[in-house]
Amino acid sequence: VALTEAWDELEARIAAATDELARKNAKLEAASHARARFLAAASHDLRQPLYALTLFSSALKAGETDPGRLARASHIQECVATLDGLFSELLDLSRLESGTMQPSPSDFPLDPLLEDVNRTFRMIAEKRELRLVLRKTDAWVHTDRTMLARIVNNLVSNALRYTERGGVLVGVRAAGTGHVRIEVWDTGPGIAPEHQARVFEEFFQVESARSERGPREHGMGLGLATAHRLAHLLGSELELHSRLQLGSMFGVTVPRAHAEAHTRAADAQRD
Ligand code: ADP
Repeated sequence: VALTEAWDELEARIAAATDELARKNAKLEAASHARARFLAAASHDLRQPLYALTLFSSALKAGETDPGRLARASHIQECVATLDGLFSELLDLSRLESGTMQPSPSDFPLDPLLEDVNRTFRMIAEKRELRLVLRKTDAWVHTDRTMLARIVNNLVSNALRYTERGGVLVGVRAAGTGHVRIEVWDTGPGIAPEHQARVFEEFFQVESARSERGPREHGMGLGLATAHRLAHLLGSELELHSRLQLGSMFGVTVPRAHAEAHTRAADAQRD
């Protein structure tokens, strides 16, 4: 009898604990939805006045000959572009969290994607006196092109922002059966082992990196969190290997395109 009573009590406790867990889960889910809705609404509404600022700063520059005023107008434009970038990061993250972003994979060659990256960052690298090397590849992949481009852009942007001397190398190598890894190497400060897992968390920034940067270079600590989530959507993990004072390598692995796509394109080129 004692055993049955004890058993009943245990069952009742388990049931109560399960209810409590379900209630807490529901609360958490509601909070997470509210957070995503807030992020989406806030970043959307904040971008509207930015658009007006962009137009005003262009108008200020048009026909202006005074170098001081031109420089100030350009400065406003740069700040507005930075803010716009931050808001679009927030918007992307909220879209990723709410599950409204879904990949649509296709077969495509990596080289043109890398050329786009080169075009986007060449001037920034030159301005910072850094080498930017993108190794050519004949690999074709099967994945969502926009998402992959977004990941690589985020990684190269970080690599250039955090590197003071040397440069950034983007390369592609075979990884496992039927996969390739796009790797972004830099000769930057590296990331300490205790921070390596945390850099993919939202809003996490290594303290020293935060204080040493000027206000215009500040991010929000969302770039890697976004890249990490995008990589997950593509069925990949974002890899990180880094040594302090030597540099970092971030990699994303994606499936190769089906062989026929590759052959088709090669045939088309020959014709
Ligand atoms: P943000 O760059 O906006 O701060 P990220 O999510 O892109 O946010 O990166 C998070 C943190 O990871 C950065 O604040 C920085 O401390 C560190 N980090 C990212 N990329 C690099 C890199 N290539 N080299 C060194 N540190 C990096």
